Amino acid sequence: MKCSAITGNVFGNHDCKGHKECHDRLVSILPRLPDTLKIHEPVPASVEDLERVHVPGYLTWLENQCVKHVDFCMLDDYVYTGGYLEQNQIVPGFLDPNTYINPCSYEVATYAAGSAIDAVNRSLDGECCFALVRPPGHHAEADRAMGFCLLNNAAVGAAHALNHVDRVAIIDWDAHHGNGTQNIFYDSNRVLYCSVHQKDIFPHTGFTEETGRHEGEGYTINAPLAQNSGIADYACVFSEIFIPALERFRPDLVIISAGQDVLSDDPLECMNLSPADIGSLTAWVRDAGESALALVLEGGYGPSHPEAICRIFDTLEKQLPAGVPAGTPGKATTETVRLLKKLHRLS
Ligand code: ZN
Repeated sequence: MKCSAITGNVFGNHDCKGHKECHDRLVSILPRLPDTLKIHEPVPASVEDLERVHVPGYLTWLENQCVKHVDFCMLDDYVYTGGYLEQNQIVPGFLDPNTYINPCSYEVATYAAGSAIDAVNRSLDGECCFALVRPPGHHAEADRAMGFCLLNNAAVGAAHALNHVDRVAIIDWDAHHGNGTQNIFYDSNRVLYCSVHQKDIFPHTGFTEETGRHEGEGYTINAPLAQNSGIADYACVFSEIFIPALERFRPDLVIISAGQDVLSDDPLECMNLSPADIGSLTAWVRDAGESALALVLEGGYGPSHPEAICRIFDTLEKQLPAGVPAGTPGKATTETVRLLKKLHRLS
């Protein structure tokens, strides 16, 4: 499969020393990208692109907050000090205890969202493209930043795609539930949102009972898993729920919200996947149908994150098969899957 990536130095303008969601996590990926991989420059989203997902008042507010962040009332409480700051370094402010901004952040976020659109366009043209961008996006709501996320990159990409195709599926394997993406498309039957995530952690949403609303009823699928879940648990969710749901939905495009904070060495959360397992997740989605496939980076903060990204590209470029999952799924997982089958009429 012909692959490419979108990434660039512009993302370094949104940074915060000492914060897990820092530019170094992107920089550390670059040496692990295949030598032959085509890298495209990031492009910004237009206001029109963003307003398909975000309310105009929020965009104006966010841009203003970034520009005037030094006056932000929470700055004194949350700024990183204690010897980390260098002279003349841009000091970020915080919108909440997790989510920082600086004067460049709004512009950088438009590049992350625009690159998700570009990845979608390229993928629809037959080049499987991974937007290696930051800040991440799946927690960002239509009218709110949260969880390191300012603009919802995957959602902006999906909303753009709906101008050109009928149906888009989003597979979100980040350890955290993508509350923003879910809510943005909660009423839609043109976007199938499937999330597998660690339960009882931030943002404390993504229960099995959250299945969509109105026309969107049945088009949101949440598989919360116990901490320490491994590839056998993910295999159960993908083979019994996500893949049959994709086969039934027949999307024109699949967007993977690729969050690798499910790796066992991730410092934030407690799932138990290896880089090779991330390759298997990729293969399962790839093999679920004939749809175009685009990827957008979400979380992933541990030392093996670059290796996992490498496995994703290897799996796609070399058409590697999924590994055979070792072990058996936990009881909690099989119970969740049984419930999901019933809720979503997947037999
Ligand atoms: Zn995450």
